[in-house]
Parts: sequence; structure tokens; C-alpha cells
Amino acid sequence: MTATDTSNDLDAELRQIAEIARPTARQGELADYIPALRDEDPDCFGLGLVDMDGTEHMVGDVDRPFAIQSISKVFALVLAMQRADRAEGVKKELWGRVGVEPSGDPFNSLVQLEHEQGVPRNPMINAGALVVDDILADHCGDARRELHDLVNELVGEEVALDDKVVHAEGNTGSRNRAMANLMLSFGNLDNSVDDVLDVYIYQCALTMTVRQLARASRFLANDGVDPATGRQILRPPLARRVNAIMLTCGTYDAAGEFAFDVGLPCKSGVAGAIMGVVPDRYGVAVWSPPLDPSGNSRAGKVALHELAERRGLSIF
Ligand code: GLU
Repeated sequence: MTATDTSNDLDAELRQIAEIARPTARQGELADYIPALRDEDPDCFGLGLVDMDGTEHMVGDVDRPFAIQSISKVFALVLAMQRADRAEGVKKELWGRVGVEPSGDPFNSLVQLEHEQGVPRNPMINAGALVVDDILADHCGDARRELHDLVNELVGEEVALDDKVVHAEGNTGSRNRAMANLMLSFGNLDNSVDDVLDVYIYQCALTMTVRQLARASRFLANDGVDPATGRQILRPPLARRVNAIMLTCGTYDAAGEFAFDVGLPCKSGVAGAIMGVVPDRYGVAVWSPPLDPSGNSRAGKVALHELAERRGLSIF
């Protein structure tokens, strides 16, 4: 938003963007591996921005909760980076056990993990998130509670856990279990597969709304300081690294396409939400459940493209 823009301009523009993006959801498909995703209303659509002074610009279904799924990988990484920033040993461990390269493979691929001796390419694919959770299990008293507390803090209110999603993910997590076992066999897991999966499944089942996700990403747009509280969540160079990882690895196999079409650090999840960062300006979120073949929200990507294009928000 330029200095001459008013809130009304932006709100009207968000409504226009919603009108353009919403119908494209019909070209997508709902994830169907658990009932909570399979039974979701494909017509839900919400888009929201929160600026640095806390003004919220919202259109559509912005207060309807959904499981954050893979978006939780960002919060888990932030918690691990907080720990790593306090102890050199944890820092070495974190970046020695997980890389920062885009994978170019599906988010739950076992093949690459085998080739690369159990060291996941990055913390945004499932294997990488499992390593991060293993590190949290080692260095937090109660990793699930601390992760939940961090999310609550960033949102400014309590977010709920969806027990049905916890249960369903537990019953369908064979691939994640296989990845954890493979990493265990390579010596890249300290805790038991069950303990690590418990943390991972818990974080995937945290539920948030578009409004809450847009609030939660603001600290990443603000050099690591939560604008709501003034608390430094991460030091500036670390917050920038999280953004770099989101940009290069946050949208499954389509990170190049997102950089090209949107130009913002984003993290998407299988429930059809995308959380984005507009440095120095906004926390952004969009939710529309049907996914494109790369696993990103079909209409969500269109909405972010329109938003970035119309407002000149690309970081490039
Ligand atoms: N719980 C899902 C899984 O691990 C998360 C997938 C996602 O959002 O990418 O398969």
C-alpha cells in the first residue's frame, strides 16, 4: 500500500481479488486422505492482511478455523531457531541435521532421503520437519506445549487443537513413520519414532483462521519483532533466514513458480491455506481448500498473485 492508499482502497481491492480468485477453486481438488480435509466445504474462501500497526483487512471466510497442517513447520522451525540462537551446540545440530535447499521432490518423498543418507533437504518437507521436531523433543521440556504457546503468543489468543485431525493423522501417517524410521536408521533421529510423530501430528492439527495466520506471520515481516507486543521472537538475521526458507522451500514443488508469480515468502498446507510475508508491511493469509497438482491452494495462489501484482508487493 502506498502512502496515498486508504484502507478503503485496500479493502475494495481485496474484494475484487476474492471475486477473481474464488471461482478458480473449482479447478482444484480437495485433499482426501483424512475426513476433515475430504469433507471440507470447497467453496470456503478467505483472504486477509494485517499491517504493522495492527489494522486488519479481511474478506470472506476469515474466521473459520482449519488445521494448519504444513504451515506449522514454520512455527516449529522458529522455536528450534530460538533454541539454536541460545546455544551454539543446538545451532550446529540443527543445521547439520537438516539442509536449506529446495527439494524438487514431493514433500513426503522417501527416495531423496535414502540417497542423501537421511539428511532432509530442508525443514519445510516432512522429513525436515520431523528432524526439527526431534530437536524440539530434545531441547524443550514439552515440545507440543511450547509450540502451541508460541502460536498462541503470535496470534494473541488461544488456538485450538483438532483432536479428530490428531486421530486421523495418526491412522494415516505410514509414510511419515517410514521417513522417521529411515532417518533413525541413518542416525538422524534421537527420540523414538512415536515421540517425534506425536509432536509432528500435534502441530499439524493446530487450527487457525485466516485472520490468525495473517497476525502470526507479521513478526517475519518486521525483522523478527512481534508488532503486537514488541517482543523479539527471532533476531533480524534469523527472521530473514526463515523468510528465505519459506520463499525457496515453502510451497512444495512450486516454490519457483511462487517466486515468479507471487514473489513473497509463503508457506502452504494441505488444508488449502497459505501464510505469506510482505516485508515491512503485512502478514498475509489466504484459505481456499481445493489444491492444484503441486498441493498448493488453487485459488489461494491466484489471490496472492493478484495481490502482489496489483500492489507491487513482490520482494524482487
Ligand atoms: N499432515 C500432513 C502430512 O504430514 C501435512 C501435509 C501438508 O500440509 O503438506 O502428510
